[in-house]
Amino acid sequence: MAAELATLGARAGRPVLDALIGTIHEHAAHLGALDGATGDGDHGVNMNKGFTRAGQLLGPSDESLAGILLVLGQTLLTEVGGAMGPLYGSFFLDMAAAAGTEPTVTADTFGQMLTAGVAAVIDIGEANVGDKTLLDALVPAESAYRAAKEAGGSFAEALAAMADAAETGAESTRDMVALVGRASRLGERSRGHLDAGAASCALILRALASSVTSQLDVSPVTPAAGTERAK
Ligand code: ADP
Ligand code: MG
Repeated sequence: MAAELATLGARAGRPVLDALIGTIHEHAAHLGALDGATGDGDHGVNMNKGFTRAGQLLGPSDESLAGILLVLGQTLLTEVGGAMGPLYGSFFLDMAAAAGTEPTVTADTFGQMLTAGVAAVIDIGEANVGDKTLLDALVPAESAYRAAKEAGGSFAEALAAMADAAETGAESTRDMVALVGRASRLGERSRGHLDAGAASCALILRALASSVTSQLDVSPVTPAAGTERAK
């Protein structure tokens, strides 16, 4: 396998945000229906409002992935209510912070961003895997991303593994009983329904994976003279 270095360019953020806004908009009614079965039905409307608003607030200099995630996180945190505003707001803000000052993103950087985002959701929500929340999509997605990379997979392969694991994880919430959030009030009756947050998380990670992958600059790694190991 030829070594290659894939990097997301410094101006790739806007198409990524457009992809995120697009998928949430397209699936807003479905997310609302899922939340309606075990909660108050506002998840699709809230998500659609927050993501669309972030697109409107984006400034001309917010061009990098970290730049758009910062605006998205701030918007969700400050303008969207429900459990989702703080949870996804912190997720995107901490992803942006972990990107550092470099506007381009490598597979390593993205892994650090994902880890920081997951940690923020756990920190804010204090939920565990198995509680029937977006963590049931997010935690396996992060593990799959890391495992794919450690197995020598490319940036694109790791992103695909992340999105696949998020979808499988979201599907796994169907058989769970909700232990936190509004749905936990239903007890056993929450079983048999997909968790709305896990479903939105799988959509977000799929759109993120696809839009980042389609914009990667891939160049073969040519070991510099005197360099023994290329990483
Ligand atoms: P609300 O319950 O306030 O109406 P939303 O409808 O926006 O909030 O979001 C509901 C989703 O939030 C749930 O489907 C679940 O995935 C997620 N959630 C709720 N509480 C927590 C928590 N403590 N930690 C992580 N995720 C949570
Ligand atoms: Mg709700």
